Amino acid sequence: MNYGRKLFYQKKIYDLEKTNDLFVKSVLENVRHHQINCPEYAEILLRRKFSPDDIVSINDIYKIPPIPTLFFKNHTLYSSSRQHLLFKSTTSGTSGKVSEMGLDWPSVWLGLGMITGTFFTHRLTSLYPANYIVMGYQPAKRNKMGAVKSAYAATFTAPAMHREYALKDTGTEYILNIEGIKHALIRYEKSGLPVRFIGFPAYFMFLMKELIDSGVKLKLHPKSLVILGGGWKQFLSEQMDKPALYDMSKEALGIGKDRIREMFGVVEHPIAYFDCPNHHFHVPVYSRVIIRDTDLRPVEYGVPGMLNLLTPMITSMPFTSVMTDDLAVMHPGEECGCGINSPYFEILGRVGLADIKTCAAGASELLV
Ligand SMILES: [Zn+2]
Repeated sequence: MNYGRKLFYQKKIYDLEKTNDLFVKSVLENVRHHQINCPEYAEILLRRKFSPDDIVSINDIYKIPPIPTLFFKNHTLYSSSRQHLLFKSTTSGTSGKVSEMGLDWPSVWLGLGMITGTFFTHRLTSLYPANYIVMGYQPAKRNKMGAVKSAYAATFTAPAMHREYALKDTGTEYILNIEGIKHALIRYEKSGLPVRFIGFPAYFMFLMKELIDSGVKLKLHPKSLVILGGGWKQFLSEQMDKPALYDMSKEALGIGKDRIREMFGVVEHPIAYFDCPNHHFHVPVYSRVIIRDTDLRPVEYGVPGMLNLLTPMITSMPFTSVMTDDLAVMHPGEECGCGINSPYFEILGRVGLADIKTCAAGASELLV
């Protein structure tokens, strides 16, 4: 994985032009690796009449067959033996299907390069101690959900003095810990240290409502930070305008929108997309993003379609090109105005289930 190592340890994480050739070499290295080590993946490539030799430049990478995330929820495919996996996570979709994911050492090594590059570029790491509010589950041995692990990992971005969890582990079950969080926040305000909030946007919104309704108004340290990840889509009915959420945060915590950051990620594509100061997800060097119509043809900037994510990061599972169930649109980087030139994507919602099923069926029939 020589090209991959070079790609994931780039200093300028949004210089796509400079890394196009390296990305192509790296993605081909990854496709060949899965082709050799995962017979099911080799079969999919064969049936789609795809050969890595078809890829000459970055303009050809759309030819790599995208595999729907829904397909992976039904078929766990590995390209390395299970005893070599460092960690395993599971995620449950809204359909109730459980998706399993395991990472081997080479993937983790690339991931570390990405996290370092991303966090430093976005100035998310700090040596200054902080208190944490994790708006999610307290880690426990019996809970293997990926979101728990990534939220916990994020509590190492600044030295942790204390962590309080919205869902507290009693040893046998989880309890909602809103009162505990309120008390912790009042203590944190007095301590004078920055507070870092980590978790799903919907949970943060719920917490802000609770604080405002109970008359709690805090003025937390100005270097406090809110990191929201996991998307809004599970809670579409509760979705409100982001500016309204930013206003609530300002009112309840004294933390404005410039200290609220959002992260986008998918289990089958664990690239950390952090929003820019204008709250857009620009594509970093570690991945490329293609928007496709229902016939899987790539579409132009500004045209909504299905979100297809490509990365050579994972060697343990054939996640090179995955089709998500998100509906998205791409824009040229310059349209943002934040100074980052790489294109950015906006999530518009979910693709209709019928479209995904067609797409997933397309992949499933390859494996009969
Ligand atoms: Zn931007």
